[in-house]
Order: sequence, then structure tokens, then C-alpha cells
Amino acid sequence: MQDQKSHPNQFLGYKNGLLYFFDGSRELSLTAVVKNYQGPVFFYSLNFIKSRAIKMQDALKGVRMFYAMKANAHPQVLGVFKDQKIGIDVVSGGEIKHAINCGFGYKDLVYSGVGKTKKELELAISNDIYQINVESIPELQRIAEMAAQLKKKANVAFRINPDISIKSHPYIATGLKDNKFGIDTGQLGEVIAVAKSYSEFLSVKGLSLHLGSQMMEFDSLKDSLAKLKPLFLKLRAEFPECNRFDFGGGLGVYYEKQDLLAEEKLLADYAAVVFSELDELKIKITDLEIQSEPGRWLVGHCGVLISQVQYVKKTPYKEFVILDSGMNHLIRPSLYEAFHGIQAMKDGPEKTYDVVGPICESSDFFGKNRKMAQVKEGDFIVVRDCGAYGATMSSDYNLQARALEVTDSDF
Ligand SMILES: *Cc1c(COP(=O)(O)O)cnc(C)c1O
Repeated sequence: MQDQKSHPNQFLGYKNGLLYFFDGSRELSLTAVVKNYQGPVFFYSLNFIKSRAIKMQDALKGVRMFYAMKANAHPQVLGVFKDQKIGIDVVSGGEIKHAINCGFGYKDLVYSGVGKTKKELELAISNDIYQINVESIPELQRIAEMAAQLKKKANVAFRINPDISIKSHPYIATGLKDNKFGIDTGQLGEVIAVAKSYSEFLSVKGLSLHLGSQMMEFDSLKDSLAKLKPLFLKLRAEFPECNRFDFGGGLGVYYEKQDLLAEEKLLADYAAVVFSELDELKIKITDLEIQSEPGRWLVGHCGVLISQVQYVKKTPYKEFVILDSGMNHLIRPSLYEAFHGIQAMKDGPEKTYDVVGPICESSDFFGKNRKMAQVKEGDFIVVRDCGAYGATMSSDYNLQARALEVTDSDF
């Protein structure tokens, strides 16, 4: 991994012994990012995100995309999606307000989540939000009653729980019947009855699905789409305005290796499954709007977390690299035992380390038994693939300060 240009398949590598981010056209020195280092920093390449968005739009031609903001809510990141005419999938009142502050309209927003409060729903309904993905019968009732009070007609789609598992960490699989997400297929009759009884205040726009995150194979998606098709047609027969089919997000990325070409193949396979299942509906329903809610695939690789070595601690058993950043900034390794590539800013002879943070928890590590270039106090470490579910999942635990977030537009 010497000259980046000879590796179009990668986005991070050494050049003259120093780590660079390659966004597809430009090489950006990560050393420049830590020039006036004040503390841990997330660096995002907006250029890279844009190229990913275009690739996905090409692969999913005709699909209306709503970027899942919970993956990365940086205003400039959202700006890339706004420029690409991509909407936003929001999961809270806070995310709704943030999207509006970043220049999106309520017509650009799909609102998901199992626990929408009255206050949050009031914000959504009174502003005629494009779509509320309803996750339960009591939620549907609440929406209908609130729409009546507000003298509005709420746009709803029903998130269906297909009871189909994906191969992923159990914490990020959402499509099983013992998960809290979505409406059980057996309850659709009741849902229709409730929706009909409030027909003055509800506009039933469609169905939605989200199987979970980090999907790397698509049999479960195929089965779920097949299961939902007849339900969609049933709904359409009851509600003529029903014309939206939202197949959710969840397309995964490789964390163990850098292989952009393999990911494009993955994207193509994903698109093939979607279209093979949904093209038939498209013929039957000429005004069909197919929707998608991608998060991780768009932003996962765009970001790195850079932190500084505070101590190299040698025990009779281990050698620890202790950083000024930990699970407070990037919780994925602690929460899901997720793998993130870790590299030293400066290339050199390798050593094996446990890379850990300052937080007072044994689960506070970024990686164990990792081979990387030898480091010493004051050196910088780069954690790969922190563009999705990095900063947005960070906390103030131990009253540590949040990490700074910067983009390629700052350099
Ligand atoms: C998190 C989430 C997504 C995005 O998932 P990714 O794995 O990041 O693509 C999409 N839709 C819903 C409802 C979600 O909760």
C-alpha cells in the first residue's frame, strides 16, 4: 500500500511513510488535520460521500433515497445529500429540527422510530411531514387523534416486521418478531380497520421495511420483499392513494479490508434483488414510488477518527497503546464488538498492541492484538471507517469532551 493512485480500490494508505486519505481524485494528508491538534478529531471527506451517493443513485435508478441521518448528522455531510436531491430519514424531533436547520423541507423527510412522543408528532403532523413510518397500532391511534386535533391529514406508511433475520450482530438486526420494530404481519387487518375509522385524518401512503444494518447478503431482503408484496397490494386495494414502498436501509460495508470494487459489486447485487422483487409491483402500480433509507453505505468509509498516543504501557502480558479517545467517541467496538481498522499516522516496523482509551471501563478499546507501525507517546493513531455511527453515537461519559469534526473542505 505505497502509492495510492495504484490502488483505486482503497481510500486510506501511506505515501512517503505518512497516512493519506484518497477520495477518488485527491490525496489528503491526514498529518495536516492534526497540525494544530487540540484533541481527538473526526475527519470526513465530503468528496468521497458525494461519489458514494452518485454510485448508489446510479445503481438504484428510479428509487427515491432518504439518507438515514442517525449515521452521521454533520451539517456539511447533510449538505452533500441536499445537493444530490436526497431526502432524510429522521428518527426523532431533534433530527427533524436539525434537518430543517440544514435546509431541508418537511416534504423531504421520512420519520421512523418506535417511540415517537406527542411533542415530536405534533411537530411532524402540524408541518405536513412527507411520511411517518408507523411502528404500532397505538402509535397509529395517537397519530390519528393528534391529526384530528390539529385539523390535519397525516401521511402514514406502515413499517412491517417481516419476521426474517439477517446475518448481522443481534443488536443491529431489526426484522425479527421478537424485536421492538415494525407491525406484525398478522396485525395488518386491525391496522387497516383503525386507519379506515380515521380516514378523514390519515392518508395511507404505503408500506415500509427495515431489516437491520450491515447486511452483506440479500436472501433475507429478497424473502422480505416477497412477503410484503401481497400485503402492499392488499393495502392498495383498501387505500387508492397508497403508492409508496420503502425497503429501508442496511446495506453493509467491509470493515476488515479496503475493497471498494467488491462493495460496488455488493451494491449491484443489492439493486438486482430489489428490482427483481419490485419491478412486478411497478408494472401493476404505475404511480409506484420506491423508497430507500441508506446510511452506513454512504458515509461509513468517508471518515476517520484521529487521536494521540498518551502512553505506551508494557506489562508482562501485553503492550497497550493508551489514547486520548475511546468508547466515548467511538462506541461500536465496545457495543457490538465491531472491528475497525487501526493504523499509525507514520509507517514503520510493526508491533502488536491493544489499542485502548482513557475511559474507566474494560470494554473501552478500539482493537486488541493489532499489528501496526510502532508508536510512541505523542504520535497519532487513525481509526478507519468512522464516518457512520461514530460521532452520532458518542457521549460525554467520564465528562470527556466530544471530538471535533472537520471535513476536507477545511483543508
Ligand atoms: C438506521 C436506519 C436506517 C439506516 O441503516 P444503515 O444500516 O445505516 O443503512 C434506515 N432506516 C431505519 C428505519 C433505520 O433505523
